[in-house]
Amino acid sequence: MRAKTPEGREIELKQDTLAGLKMRLQGPVFASGDVGYEESRAVWNGMIDRKPAVVARCLGIADVIACVQFARENELLLCIKGGGHNIAGLATADGALMLDMSLMRGVWVDPQRKVAHAQAGCLLSDVDRETQVHGLAAVLGFVSLTGIAGLTLGGGFGYLTRRWGWTSDNVVGVDVVTANARLVRASSDENADLFWALRGGGGNFGVVTGIDYVLYPHWSRRAKRSVRSRGRGARLIRRHSSDNRDCRAERRKAMRHAGVVLTAVDGFLHRPLPEWVNPVVEWAEAR
Ligand SMILES: Cc1cc2nc3c(=O)[nH]c(=O)nc-3n(C[C@H](O)[C@H](O)[C@H](O)COP(=O)(O)OP(=O)(O)OC[C@H]3O[C@@H](n4cnc5c(N)ncnc54)[C@H](O)[C@@H]3O)c2cc1C
Repeated sequence: MRAKTPEGREIELKQDTLAGLKMRLQGPVFASGDVGYEESRAVWNGMIDRKPAVVARCLGIADVIACVQFARENELLLCIKGGGHNIAGLATADGALMLDMSLMRGVWVDPQRKVAHAQAGCLLSDVDRETQVHGLAAVLGFVSLTGIAGLTLGGGFGYLTRRWGWTSDNVVGVDVVTANARLVRASSDENADLFWALRGGGGNFGVVTGIDYVLYPHWSRRAKRSVRSRGRGARLIRRHSSDNRDCRAERRKAMRHAGVVLTAVDGFLHRPLPEWVNPVVEWAEAR
C-alpha cells in the first residue's frame, strides 16, 4: 500500500507492517476498502476527499502513543481528526496515518471544583450533556457537532464568550502526546510554554488526548435564551411570570429542563420540545 512521509515522499507500507499496528492497538484500524474506512476518513466539508493510507480509531491514550511510535518508526505522515469540522479539511491528508479520535468521548465533571475533563474526541454536545447535569457549562461553541479539540486549539468562541472569554481562556490543563510519543501535561504549572501554544495556536503541537475546562453555573441565563427562541417556550415564560411564589418555582423548573434538552441534543434547533414539557405548557396555557 502507498503511503506518504511528512516531507511528501511516497513510500510502500507493507501488509505485515500494518498487521503490526493492528496488534498494538485496542481500537480498530482501517485501510482503503475496509468497512469503516470511508466513514472514518470523512470530514464535515464534503468537498474534501483525501484518502489517508490507514485510519486508526484510538480507544485511549495508549493507542495514541502506539500510533505516534508507529508513525515515527515508519516515517509516516500523521494527521488527527477530532470532530472533522475544520472547513479546510486539516484533519485529513492523502497517504497519512489518520488518528480518528471519535471513540474517545468520555467526560468527567468535578462539580465541587467546577472543572470538567473531556477526552479529545468529544463533540461539544458530549461536554454539554454531562456538565448540565450539575447545572454547569463550559465555554464552547454554537454548533453541537463541532469537535472540542479543534475548536479549543484554535481559540474557540460561543454562547458564553461575551461573558467569560474565549474557550482557550477557560482551559486549565491539557494532556498531550508529543512527537516523541511521550504523554505530558500542559498547564500554567507544567510545560507552561506548551500550554501557552496550545491555547489558540492551532494543531501541530502534539496529539491532545484530554482537556480540562473551567465550568460556570448557567441555568438561568442560558436556559432562558434557549426557551425564548421557541414559540411555545416563550408562551410558557409569559404565562408563568406571575409573582406567585409557586408559579415562579414552576417557571424556573420548566426553563431549566427545556434549556437542558435544547442545548444538549444534537441539532436542537430543528427539534420540537420534548413530550414531557407539554404538560407544563398545557398547565400554563390553562391559566
Ligand atoms: C458547522 C460549523 C460550526 C462551527 N461553529 C463554531 C463555533 O461556534 N465556535 C468556534 O469557535 N468555531 C466554530 N467552528 C469552527 C471549528 O471550531 C473549527 O473548524 C475547529 O477546527 C473544529 O474542530 P474539530 O475537532 O471538529 O476539527 P477537525 O477538523 O477534526 O480538526 C481541526 C484541526 O485540529 C486538529 N486536531 C483535532 N483534534 C486534535 C487533537 N486531539 N490533538 C491535536 N490536534 C487536533 C486537526 O488535526 C486539525 O488540524 C465551526 C465549524 C463548523 C464547520
